[in-house]
Amino acid sequence: MMSSIFYGVVVFLIGLAVGSFLNVVIYRIPRGENIAFPASHCPKCGHNLKWYHNIPLFSWLFLGGKCAFCKEPISKRYPLVEFINALIWLVVYLKVGFNIEALFIAMTFSALLALSAIDFEYFAVPDSVNFFALATALLASISKSFMNGDWHYAINAFIASAVTAGGLWLLAKIISLISKKEAMGGADVIVAGTMGAMLGLSHFFVAIFLSSILAIIPSLKAKDTMVPFVPFLALATFIVFLYDKDVDKLLMWIMNG
Ligand SMILES: [Zn+2]
Repeated sequence: MMSSIFYGVVVFLIGLAVGSFLNVVIYRIPRGENIAFPASHCPKCGHNLKWYHNIPLFSWLFLGGKCAFCKEPISKRYPLVEFINALIWLVVYLKVGFNIEALFIAMTFSALLALSAIDFEYFAVPDSVNFFALATALLASISKSFMNGDWHYAINAFIASAVTAGGLWLLAKIISLISKKEAMGGADVIVAGTMGAMLGLSHFFVAIFLSSILAIIPSLKAKDTMVPFVPFLALATFIVFLYDKDVDKLLMWIMNG
């Protein structure tokens, strides 16, 4: 009991630190900047941050959401991404355990969180983060196979990933042939591949259905403006991952009348 609380706290703190790194990714990758150099600095005044200005979540709270040097407000996105990511890592640990599979699953959802934030701001997602999510999702299935000595997990994940990505690619081709417009980007195809690897085929379709429902209200509110779809795909993927047993029951109930 004590050790699981200890691990939970450790995982939460690692999640905060990874969330802090995600903020760097979210800010720098769309700008084409290096994610390792230079050191963290205020985007407004360019002042380099001291280590105690850079503690996830807490620094933002202590500084009252303002830069320590120029007092410009710092976006709430920073503490929000850190906190959400820490929760994701904690939940994945509670569901999967303290092992290599959980690590790769948590990394996949972190990458999806970064993609969601970037899509939200720029209506486009960078290939590097997108392919990273696909790679870690597939590595999670390989890890599960290693841990259980059963290659079915990895084989099923690779097949589901190929079918979902390939299926969406084909669908996009057909729609763009008929409508003579570019229907979906290659980015959506990669996200679908990641979802397929994480969820398997039947749960992938549940997640797609759920993401459409989640996107209805924001789409109606936005009217003519674009609505980023990756955040809804990511959220639906996380919900279906979390409630996989209930999704199984739901699918059984639908198929058996
Ligand atoms: Zn500043």
